[in-house]
Amino acid sequence: MREKQPRHRARGAEGSVSGEIRLHPKLGLNPHMTYCPRCGGEGRDLILLGARDYIDKCCDCGIMLIGGGPCPKHPGRRTERVRSIEEHEKLPGSACEACEKDLAAQEAEVAAGGVYFRCDCGAKGGVILAQHALAADARAQLKIAAPAPCGVSIPECPSCAKEPRAT
Ligand SMILES: [Zn+2]
Ligand SMILES: [Zn+2]
Ligand SMILES: [Zn+2]
Repeated sequence: MREKQPRHRARGAEGSVSGEIRLHPKLGLNPHMTYCPRCGGEGRDLILLGARDYIDKCCDCGIMLIGGGPCPKHPGRRTERVRSIEEHEKLPGSACEACEKDLAAQEAEVAAGGVYFRCDCGAKGGVILAQHALAADARAQLKIAAPAPCGVSIPECPSCAKEPRAT
């Protein structure tokens, strides 16, 4: 019988190189399942934390560092311990396959003249299609011509327009 392909790609915690994982005294490689940070669905990665079962924060930009620093943008700066990671805690990994496809399609639409939009309500944003007059208006106003990426924030998106306003 052929062995099945492993379902998850394994990788070390941020900043660590595989083969350099310091084993956890009780949990060994200490593997953690991940979720897709975009849709919350099942992630594709398996993060091997080893002994680095904690989250630090870059004191410069505030980014959360799973397994500790250094911050990829501020490697020399101080980091601060935020908390430790529970044994069975799911961690944010890379985007899932569906989201990756989605993102690639959005990128293509924006390169063709579309415009990214984001709403104050915090809902997942999207893309104003290239053929839509709003996209051309936004690009004209911002003086950003395709294929350069371009984004706007809007006061009301399709997902919050459906719900009654809190005010
Ligand atoms: Zn996803
Ligand atoms: Zn930073
Ligand atoms: Zn909204």
